[in-house]
Amino acid sequence: MSTDPVRADDDGDPLGGDDGGDIGGAGLTQRILVAMAVGLGLGLVVNLLGVEGAIADFMVGGLLHVGGAIFLASLKLLVVPLVFVSLVCGTAALDDLSRLGRLGGRTLLLYLFTTAVAVTVAISAGVLVQPGAGFDLPTELVFEGRPAPPLSETLIQIFPTNPVKAMAEGNMLQIIVFAVLFGLAMTMAGKPGKRTLSLFEDFNAVIMRLVGLLMRFAPIGVFCLIAKVFAEQGFEAFQPLLKYFGVVLGVLLLHGLVVYPSLLIFVGRLDPRLFMRKMRAAQVVAFSTASSGATLPITLRTAERRLGVDNRVASFTIPLGATINMDGTAIMQGVATVFIAQAYGVEIGPTGYLMVVVTATLASIGTAGVPGVGLIMLAMVLRQVNLPVEGIGLIIGIDRLLDMVRTAVNITGDAAVTCIVAKGEGELDLEIYADPEAGAAA
Ligand code: ASP
Repeated sequence: MSTDPVRADDDGDPLGGDDGGDIGGAGLTQRILVAMAVGLGLGLVVNLLGVEGAIADFMVGGLLHVGGAIFLASLKLLVVPLVFVSLVCGTAALDDLSRLGRLGGRTLLLYLFTTAVAVTVAISAGVLVQPGAGFDLPTELVFEGRPAPPLSETLIQIFPTNPVKAMAEGNMLQIIVFAVLFGLAMTMAGKPGKRTLSLFEDFNAVIMRLVGLLMRFAPIGVFCLIAKVFAEQGFEAFQPLLKYFGVVLGVLLLHGLVVYPSLLIFVGRLDPRLFMRKMRAAQVVAFSTASSGATLPITLRTAERRLGVDNRVASFTIPLGATINMDGTAIMQGVATVFIAQAYGVEIGPTGYLMVVVTATLASIGTAGVPGVGLIMLAMVLRQVNLPVEGIGLIIGIDRLLDMVRTAVNITGDAAVTCIVAKGEGELDLEIYADPEAGAAA
């Protein structure tokens, strides 16, 4: 019996599974990219021409809103069943259980390392460019952060008391814990375990097929989401914040286009161009949804089908990454902290910056993969170095666009680390990785 659900079918497709079409392949990627460009163009036209009235309301608040919301809902719909079933299969298929610990350790280490690098570069860029120097502070600012929960509480919260509640609430870490325990028990349960595994493998194939189906509608969903954001974005807010926007964007691009490729080359010994090309569709979905959580089905599918990572690794590292690995978010937090310190004329010094690196790395773990949460978690970082939390109000107006870019960086980091860990574990199919069209057509 095949232990890999993705390859367990017999439809003649070397990658297994019945894709239900072109999944994240070259054709679909192109359609998604075109949809993004057209959506961006249309949104900007509506915005810049200041189109208002019933037609604009019907288009932006009606059609685009409904189209985008339905796409987002159908992505989110898949997350819980996909993560649970896929991870149960992945854990149950591990031949050697000690590998789980090693896999977890390496993944965690790389996730923390990339985040710490991200925030360090962000702070350095902020100190160098001084985006907040001479910034005119408005007299009235309102932003209330919320206190960070104590560490002990955060740790306890990882363990579910009720798996159904964890699933209903979409609590990813709790679902991961339950799935791993369930998968482990399956490997120990003899024949009943084997029967259950075969059932779960079938479930997994069906859910993967559902992801494939949904991907066909991604161009429409991406178009609606992006057109709406750009039609509604208030561009006046950018004027005084151009320097801040530029620094965050610059470091995000540096991280995505230099740091990850370097890691892939030097640590993973993998071709980064292939990686980037195959990640494009997932990146655009992340950009349009601003949610690593909602993009998770696409990221997982890309890692397994397009990049060749075995389900045993990807089913664990991708959901974990979407939950705790947020390099893009940490970059925004690093630059924002420096910006707010400069705007308020507060000196935080080297020790303060070191504290920011540690807290932003930890805050990234606690940041949920949904839009805008990075900004809320920024309050925790600011408090740590005694900066005014209401400083967040300065940058909130332009955060949506940065959120979109940083989410794309966040999921790219998850996939890059996944490929590197999988390569180290001998769980990366190099033939699939090297084939530009792998997973592109059924
Ligand atoms: N939107 C980001 C994500 O989902 C989190 C954040 O930075 O707000 O990855």
